[in-house]
Amino acid sequence: MKPMGLYLHIPFCRRKCLYCDFCSYPGRTGDHHRYLAALKQELRQRWNPRWQVATIYIGGGTPTILPPSALLDLLATIRTVAPVQPQAEVTVEANPETVDGPGLAQLRAGGVNRLSLGAQSGHDRFLEIIGRRHTVADVERTVALARQAGFTNINLDLIYGLPGETPADWQQTLRWAVSLRPDHLSCYGLQVEAGTPLDTMVREGRVRLPSEDEVSAMFLAATRFLPAAGYEQYEIANFARRPRAGETGRCDYRCRHNLIYWRYQDYLGLGLAAASTVAGHRWVNLSDLDAYLAAVDAGTAPTALAETLTPKQEMAEMLMLGFRLTAGPDPEAFAERWGVSLATVLGDRVGPLLSGGFLQQEAGTYRLTPRGMLVSNQVLTQLLSPLL
Ligand code: SF4
Repeated sequence: MKPMGLYLHIPFCRRKCLYCDFCSYPGRTGDHHRYLAALKQELRQRWNPRWQVATIYIGGGTPTILPPSALLDLLATIRTVAPVQPQAEVTVEANPETVDGPGLAQLRAGGVNRLSLGAQSGHDRFLEIIGRRHTVADVERTVALARQAGFTNINLDLIYGLPGETPADWQQTLRWAVSLRPDHLSCYGLQVEAGTPLDTMVREGRVRLPSEDEVSAMFLAATRFLPAAGYEQYEIANFARRPRAGETGRCDYRCRHNLIYWRYQDYLGLGLAAASTVAGHRWVNLSDLDAYLAAVDAGTAPTALAETLTPKQEMAEMLMLGFRLTAGPDPEAFAERWGVSLATVLGDRVGPLLSGGFLQQEAGTYRLTPRGMLVSNQVLTQLLSPLL
């Protein structure tokens, strides 16, 4: 049986955050039931009996805008359609204002074993500027409730580079986040996407973004502070806690679902705008809610775009993703898949990047240095140019 990552997209939110260009619909509560039915239908349509589920990730949007019973019903359907590995990682994304103690306990008892909370900042004023509906106190309360509910694997999503934020503010957010003792932290730089209200606010001069140097300083601060606080940086933006003194049992808190993406392994994405990659075939679903519902109702695949990658494109994809990991791409997995060594494919383009301090050579592979991570797009374009 082939292990697969399974992603399910819940495209509903209470209100649109000002920076958001994810596929999410505020309101549309009348469509929740029909959408869930479509999601289950799409699972039945696309599932291959030779697969088994290694990880489940219910993301959004705001999955916890739905009642816990609806999310558990979705999980129950997955288990009837697909074999799920007994130790499967099952993540649900949640926003603090949409969960309570009994709901979290219900999710935990129903098999959700990882909670990913959209915390974003340790400052109420930044949460307000970007249009989040929760406060710092809400995050603190939710983490405590999640622990009481039995969650032993909690991620906090954070964003740096927020309007008006200084490196000192970010440092305070990091300290605050660590004080909540999460098991995992994701730290992403704010992207101002065209057409969002935040984009308008920036262009009209109503808010000021930190300079590029300040944003770089914030990224580097996370890469120094979090490892010193017991969190291993295993991917450009992701940090997993190491076991604490005297702790036994689980010791790997890296997100297994996201590792599937970064290792270029196969995954099936269901729902609005969800992407899938299976054996070099890649497709993305429709992102219009009505069109998606109509396609599934009609018994057709709700696919918007599909392509089959050439071996060269696949190699590039595997390396692009693999270089996001701090360990670098796995040289054995690469050689096994392509019958050629990583060193041969990268050729002499590594030389200047090694001497420039952007790459480091270690354990038969290459990895980005913190300096390389700051300009990863440029480094990878240079490194992989013959494949692109
Ligand atoms: S909660 Fe997330 S998906 Fe929903 S509007 Fe805000 S940023 Fe977008």
